[in-house]
Amino acid sequence: MRKIVIANWKMNPQSQKEAEVLFRAIVKSKNSKKIDVVICPPVLYIEKLNKISSKMVLGAQNIFYEKKGPFTGEISAGMLKDIGVEYIIIGHSERRSLGETNLDVNKKIKTALSCGLKPVVCVGEIERDENHKYFNIIKNQIEECLGGLSKSMLSKIIIAYEPVWALSTTLGHKDATSLDSCEMSIFIKKIISDKFGLKIIMPRIIYGGSVDDKNCADFLINGGVSGVLVGGASLNADKFLKIINIAGIK
Ligand code: PEP
Repeated sequence: MRKIVIANWKMNPQSQKEAEVLFRAIVKSKNSKKIDVVICPPVLYIEKLNKISSKMVLGAQNIFYEKKGPFTGEISAGMLKDIGVEYIIIGHSERRSLGETNLDVNKKIKTALSCGLKPVVCVGEIERDENHKYFNIIKNQIEECLGGLSKSMLSKIIIAYEPVWALSTTLGHKDATSLDSCEMSIFIKKIISDKFGLKIIMPRIIYGGSVDDKNCADFLINGGVSGVLVGGASLNADKFLKIINIAGIK
């Protein structure tokens, strides 16, 4: 499967100017044609960045599930598509911690697909327990988030396994291993084939959680995934470019 490296800039950098400097540094050196690279900046910066280089694929970090109307402060999938967005992160743990539910995620996936955006659907347990109940949490997230999707819709999405305990911004975070990622990738594929049958195009499964230039090769070779979602390390152009280069040869 073709590999993908996705940068989640979250609510960074703090100005348009800084965003442009970071973006230009990545665009200037990015040369791997063998993989997909997507940058998801804050929505306010997207239009300008797209004008700097329309070759770089852009994503956004959230949408609203309604397409238009009286929803103060929300941004629709159609609006994002209109300014050149191709991918959309949905169900990130930081949004779930603000109250987003699996049902919201499910509605957002359907709206995104109907507007031609490619959803990157985040799932992940907050913590691990000795009795392995976290598998049930992932099962429930996958089943509810993908509820009612057709097989053809399924083939257009990406699932990002992001254990919250391993995110670089989680207080006292622990490093997940490529074995953790591999095990969960197999489990997610099983849940999906149990739900949709075996005659499907399996969505790409990627890993996110403190990925950097030092550990990404291990996740890409041994983690059972087709790519990585990168938070903190994507704000450093050198580190992010190393990740892109490594993904291009692994
Ligand atoms: C994220 O929060 O999506 C993420 C991948 O963050 P980090 O790489 O900083 O752990």
